[in-house]
Amino acid sequence: MTTPHRAKKSLGQNFLIDPNLQRKIVAALEAEPTDEVLEIGPGHGALTDHLEGNVGRLVLVELDDDLASALERRFAGRSDVVVIRGDVLQVDPLAQVRDPEDLLVIGNIPYNITTPILFRLLERPRPRRIVLMVQEDVAARIAAPVGTRAYGALSVGVRSVASVDRLFGVGRRSFRPVPRVDSAIVRIDPFRPERTSAADEARLRVVVRAAFQWRRKQLGKILRDHPDIMADDEVAAAAVASAGVELTDRPERVSPEAFVRLATSLG
Ligand code: SAM
Repeated sequence: MTTPHRAKKSLGQNFLIDPNLQRKIVAALEAEPTDEVLEIGPGHGALTDHLEGNVGRLVLVELDDDLASALERRFAGRSDVVVIRGDVLQVDPLAQVRDPEDLLVIGNIPYNITTPILFRLLERPRPRRIVLMVQEDVAARIAAPVGTRAYGALSVGVRSVASVDRLFGVGRRSFRPVPRVDSAIVRIDPFRPERTSAADEARLRVVVRAAFQWRRKQLGKILRDHPDIMADDEVAAAAVASAGVELTDRPERVSPEAFVRLATSLG
């Protein structure tokens, strides 16, 4: 007889118990029967149940040993399902997929690693689509309008390389155990074709990080004086002109598109 699984708080285990929501989240992926899907943190299979058999290939990454063992037993002998036991931030799940750029990714992921997972997924090569359950405030930060307090490095980091939709909220009572916060589903579609070169994108990351470290300062000062940028006056003036912003603007006034132009012209 197996003992029932006790949810591990350290692994962010809040299991989604509402079957209608499970279906709705999986439907947001719009997976075709030939698609390859990577699921992060399948747990007891709340989303997996609605994916298995309906997609071409399913790659599951689960860190919890007991849950990974249960998944291995469940899918033993299935050539269309691969179970990877490990930390999604340490193992390289993309090495196990056919075509990382055609991949669909889904996950009800632990809250404490939402941001690193998101940034990892948005490194090149980027998947075709990502559907994630995130804390409501993270969804708000990702989708925040320019000029609001929630607008920051996360908003620009995601929206400079992808389009984002906050699809719907998920109340905390839909989970067991009940978490302390509400959640939301976001769908992220990386731009095709890419809008920046890899080199411009690396510079963009530096500029965005620097800008929001100094979010109370004006762009001119950030570009000239931040140790990670140190542009001279002429370069800074040309960069803001080509981005269509002002030296006196603060970072939260600069749209993701303007940040891309700024970083490109600093190159
Ligand atoms: N998908 C299931 C559901 O919706 O009910 C479980 C969701 S639960 C919020 C998060 C899951 O991610 C747990 O199964 C947990 O063990 C797993 N997990 C936690 N950290 C992980 C990591 N670093 N890599 C892979 N899986 C992880």
